[in-house]
Amino acid sequence: MEAGDLRGVVALDGPSGTGKSTVARRLASRLGASYLDTGAMYRAVTLATLRAGVAPDDEAAVLPIAEAVDLRMGTDPERPTVHLGDEDIAAEIRGRAVTLAVSAVSAIPGVRELLKAGQREIIARECARAGGIVVEGRDIGTVVAPDAALKVFLTASSDARAQRRARQDAAEGRVSTVDDTRQDVDRRDRLDSSRAAAPLRAAEDAVRLDTTDLDLPAVLDRLLAIVDERGLRGVAAERAGW
Ligand code: C5P
Repeated sequence: MEAGDLRGVVALDGPSGTGKSTVARRLASRLGASYLDTGAMYRAVTLATLRAGVAPDDEAAVLPIAEAVDLRMGTDPERPTVHLGDEDIAAEIRGRAVTLAVSAVSAIPGVRELLKAGQREIIARECARAGGIVVEGRDIGTVVAPDAALKVFLTASSDARAQRRARQDAAEGRVSTVDDTRQDVDRRDRLDSSRAAAPLRAAEDAVRLDTTDLDLPAVLDRLLAIVDERGLRGVAAERAGW
């Protein structure tokens, strides 16, 4: 049995298709921790923007939309949820329209400030409630949680990332080809890495892990080993007197 709570924050950053979401959720489950998908928050604001008929790079028009959204994030790694008010938007935010527009919305500094504040609130609440949280995104180790107990930066070759994304799309019923997906992934990474506000990059003290040739159990084993090396779990075990 995996005993023990995670103490503090694990920041998991990296480009799309590196296996970040799956790894983050599984890691949180194994550690009895909460889980936050910050990409889903940017996607939710993007969906609200598109629904309002506003151009995703129109800063002055997007910001009030971001301020007004009633975004509700569920942090159970077994069943993460994302709602706008009472509406479940988990499937819609993964669609192509949002995927194409999200990098423009997430490059707006005011949107980032708003979401960063929301992310920090959730992190503080979950650390107090559950002991720890695994947070995935692009700027968690550098900006959102620079004091995270563990920072991980996942990478993978462009081919591997495109294939993983295409498989994920197919599994979730979205039609795409590997070539289209590769273009999307490369384009989004270029935009995310080159933006002025909180660009995608590894924190200096992040552990870098190339997942090209590693399967999920291997990545998890590596990360759990690092968590243990750093003594980041064990609170529950201590409490229970094991
Ligand atoms: O992780 P996901 O692919 O769902 O992220 C969608 C987009 O949200 C990214 O391409 C990026 O533009 C933005 N994002 C971000 N900062 C984060 C998480 C996601 O800018 N922490």
